[in-house]
Amino acid sequence: MTTRPTGKLAYLSEPERVEMREYEVPEPDPGAVLTEVEQANVCGSELHIWRGHHPEVKEGVLGHEVLCRVSELGAGVETDYAGEPIAAGDLIAPAYYVTCQRCHSCQRGQFNLCQNAYENWSKPPEEPPHFHGTFATHYVVHPDQYFYKVPEGLDPSIAAGANCALSQMLYGLDEIGVEYGDTVVVQGAGGLGLNTVAIAQERGAETIVIEGIDGRIDRARAFGADHVIDFREYDTVEARAERVRELTGGVGADVGVEVAGVPDAFAEGIDLVRDGGRYLEVGNVSPGQTTEFDPGSLTRAALTIEAVVRYQPWYLKRALRFLERNAEKYPYEDLVDARFDLEDVDEALAESDSRGVTRAALRPTTPE
Ligand SMILES: [Zn+2]
Ligand SMILES: [Zn+2]
Repeated sequence: MTTRPTGKLAYLSEPERVEMREYEVPEPDPGAVLTEVEQANVCGSELHIWRGHHPEVKEGVLGHEVLCRVSELGAGVETDYAGEPIAAGDLIAPAYYVTCQRCHSCQRGQFNLCQNAYENWSKPPEEPPHFHGTFATHYVVHPDQYFYKVPEGLDPSIAAGANCALSQMLYGLDEIGVEYGDTVVVQGAGGLGLNTVAIAQERGAETIVIEGIDGRIDRARAFGADHVIDFREYDTVEARAERVRELTGGVGADVGVEVAGVPDAFAEGIDLVRDGGRYLEVGNVSPGQTTEFDPGSLTRAALTIEAVVRYQPWYLKRALRFLERNAEKYPYEDLVDARFDLEDVDEALAESDSRGVTRAALRPTTPE
């Protein structure tokens, strides 16, 4: 038996404590794919996990946003999940969760809600196949974990963000419905908000972004937001709601999208949307944080509210297609504004947490 190479991974043993561990790189099981990590990004939800705020993932191998290069295919794997032939050396983007096909959610076709989505992600690193997260030199794509070949010519650094924010917002905006001529108010211009602006514009909608941090306002403008409401200037709920009405012929937006991740933003959001409008909740992901809410206003305005978590896994294919068509049109290349070696994962997390950087990328140092 030939000896296998070893690889490294970043293991979160308790909140804000990360250890680098080294393990032998396993042969892929039937149906699985062994990959090398090209680039992993530090996402907002990674920071929730790192701080210990994620309801399900408390420890384990960090990382979910990723672009990988296939190194070995497990028995039976010949194509990606769209039927494209796949071989060692190909770049792929995997969904960051599995869809077990057997739980009550999968049985209803709600694969984004798979009850076993994080089964592998939360495993301790000593348990094979070790490489459960993407802050690592290697990553194992499991059976029942959707993955897609990355289109030729798409900048790998841009493609690394496809499997999280972009896929989720493509799914979310399909669920809530954004039509030509709609006005969409977007609360927050982080990664989710900027992707919302790009998608809404591609659908012929007019966009209004509410944000209060200079760098984020600049990026919202660079992504083509039609209007920006600076909440340092419009510093009350009433002032912001009034400004939205001014920009929408006095009626309010057709669609509201909460991607600020702040409970109060949700309560405010329903005041920004017209009677009979639609409101999408995405940003608040930590249970237990609450806000005052006026259900009477909701009823009087007869709003439709929908919340989404993750995405139906085939939206990742659409996200790659979206980037293939639009990566030059929107400044996607500027979204990652800091690069770190994998070994410096602590620094990458701390700087992302202090908002010194917007999107940090981790890259394993060139393997031997
Ligand atoms: Zn993410
Ligand atoms: Zn399932």
